[in-house]
Amino acid sequence: MDKKRIVLLGGGYAGVHAAKKLHKKFKKHKDKVSITLIDKNPHHVLMTELHELAGGRVPEESVKISFDRIFSGTMVEAVQDEITDIDFSQRELKSGANSYSYDYLMIATGAEPSDFGIPGIKEHSLPLWGLEDALRIREHVEREVRAATYERDPEKRKQKLTFVVAGGGFTGIEMIGELAEWIPILCEEHKVDPEEVTLMVVEGLGKILNSWPDKPRNKAMKYLHKQGVQVLTNSLIVKAEEGKLTLKDGKEICTDTVIWTCGIKGRSFTEQLPLSNGKLGRKAVDAYMNSPDDERVYLAGDGVWYVAEGEPLPQIVEAAEQTAAVAAKGIAYKVCSELSLPAKKPEPFTPNFHGYMVSIGGRYAVSHTMGRSLSGFPAMALKHLINIYYQHTVCGINGWWRYLKHEIFDVKNNRSFIGGIAAYKLPSYWLAFLRMYLGVMWLIEGVKKIPEWITDTSGSRVYWADDGTGATPWENNGNETAEGVSAGTSATPAEEQAVEAVNGAAPAAEETAAEFAPPLLDEPTALFQWVQDTFVSQAPYLFQLGIVFGEVALGLAFIAGLLTFPAAVASIGLSVMLLMGALASQEILWYIAVSIVMLGGGGRAFGLDYWVMPWLKGKWNATLLAQKSHLYLDEPVKKRKRRKKKSE
Ligand SMILES: Cc1cc2nc3c(=O)[nH]c(=O)nc-3n(C[C@H](O)[C@H](O)[C@H](O)COP(=O)(O)OP(=O)(O)OC[C@H]3O[C@@H](n4cnc5c(N)ncnc54)[C@H](O)[C@@H]3O)c2cc1C
Repeated sequence: MDKKRIVLLGGGYAGVHAAKKLHKKFKKHKDKVSITLIDKNPHHVLMTELHELAGGRVPEESVKISFDRIFSGTMVEAVQDEITDIDFSQRELKSGANSYSYDYLMIATGAEPSDFGIPGIKEHSLPLWGLEDALRIREHVEREVRAATYERDPEKRKQKLTFVVAGGGFTGIEMIGELAEWIPILCEEHKVDPEEVTLMVVEGLGKILNSWPDKPRNKAMKYLHKQGVQVLTNSLIVKAEEGKLTLKDGKEICTDTVIWTCGIKGRSFTEQLPLSNGKLGRKAVDAYMNSPDDERVYLAGDGVWYVAEGEPLPQIVEAAEQTAAVAAKGIAYKVCSELSLPAKKPEPFTPNFHGYMVSIGGRYAVSHTMGRSLSGFPAMALKHLINIYYQHTVCGINGWWRYLKHEIFDVKNNRSFIGGIAAYKLPSYWLAFLRMYLGVMWLIEGVKKIPEWITDTSGSRVYWADDGTGATPWENNGNETAEGVSAGTSATPAEEQAVEAVNGAAPAAEETAAEFAPPLLDEPTALFQWVQDTFVSQAPYLFQLGIVFGEVALGLAFIAGLLTFPAAVASIGLSVMLLMGALASQEILWYIAVSIVMLGGGGRAFGLDYWVMPWLKGKWNATLLAQKSHLYLDEPVKKRKRRKKKSE
């Protein structure tokens, strides 16, 4: 039987959300259903963070996630191709070189900037609605400030240093916020006086953030003024020319930089498809996101025109995801019905939007969500939390860890809501010394126990004083000899004394231990005791052997810088175990702290990990476990290779 082919066109917020939902539904029916997502890019673009890239805050890789990452370990096949036409009667999508057949199709190609027919906007402004747009703006702004350094004509210099954002909506305010933070940094780099810079938002309506209540808007206004941004309201742009913007009241603004964020419309590609139109280039759908013209065609995201509760759908992520979820359910229901699989009837779309968060640079935000307004740190924290949650749903731990790095740990010029306090980078060659020292300490711990064993005359050779009675040292309550403990324990002399001190066996040792290295815990934790009684007591000698071997292995691994990350994890585990067994003084905290530092790749400098880790990474990334759990490191390579092979 031929598979049912579901094709999702567009890998934005709507496309990715639908693909994940459909994978969940059909992952046990891979033999009966195929899911293909087609996008012109090899990656999903995080549109909501584009202003950060355009404003020089984050690198390009932070606003894109490859489809390989997102769909690793799933049944979704992501194909990079630009679709130029769809033949609905033949159920076929066409690109320049390929065609793709479908049984059910979801179109989620998003939107594109609209110039509303204003003369010169297309030619003389920079839109912000895509990765390339953001990169273009970033390069342009940097070029203008650099060029201003050498411009002696005061008029031309002023023109270069005047930056206008057209549109005081969410995107425009986020964009100007980034510029207000970034341009002073650029000025310092290029020796330009920041006082010469003009930053401006030009809004046609009477207020910015028009759909918001006064409270968060006023907060935003106050912050913008503090940052030196001029906000021009009731200022309709009527013309753009080379180096000049004209407003309706006749005012002219001389500038080389107009960033256009005034409005969007449905994609031209979607607009020309023979499907019923809504408004503003968006396509009409019914309450199930089904096209009224074709029951096999669904639409979702920014390109959809649907009026819910008297309002057309906003072009935001929540709307994209919610329409995609409804469309995916509709498709799943129809596919299941054809395959005689159980399925729930889809529910009609009901909007459930929570509100908006607007960052004004990396250090400040305002939000209005669920009827509550926040500003400053809590608003920024909320925005980060929502983004982290999104990253997690898209590619698990891998996604949110990357997000944290780009937004907080790797930021430059203090451009995060906690400033640069977490961002300083220590060159890893400094860590090499600490790593080797940690190795030497573990090695000493392990090696010094070997002669103690060899010379042990008690015959017990046991771990924690199994003297044949089955009792632990704590239970022996002083019957254990100091020699017996010393022969069998894995603890340092100070720790041995500490154990004896707990036993009450050696008053002198108790004093010494109390003086120099008292154990951090008075007695073992219940968990440790349980492990001791259940497992260790079955084969105490073997366990001790394992521990000594482990300590020596850890020592050698740290000294050589080999497998430093797993060694650090083991080092932390062993240290915690000694701590929980009341066998360790506060010295153990040092082991734990340094091991945590080593988790960050301390073996790459002057260590074997420099060669071993890239090789291991490749092997690990190719495993199904890494792909399914999103625990791969960097890119999961296997899928791409497989696809390449297929096409050869
Ligand atoms: C700077 C900025 C900030 C924003 N901030 C927020 C915010 O804070 N909160 C919020 O809710 N919304 C925000 N938005 C809006 C939000 O990004 C959009 O509503 C959302 O991206 C819509 O998702 P989508 O899936 O419909 O379209 P998109 O995310 O635009 O995805 C469309 C996909 O279709 C692909 N595609 C298009 N045509 C073709 C073709 N012919 N062939 C193959 N592939 C094609 C594109 O490559 C793209 O991957 C912001 C937008 C911008 C630009």
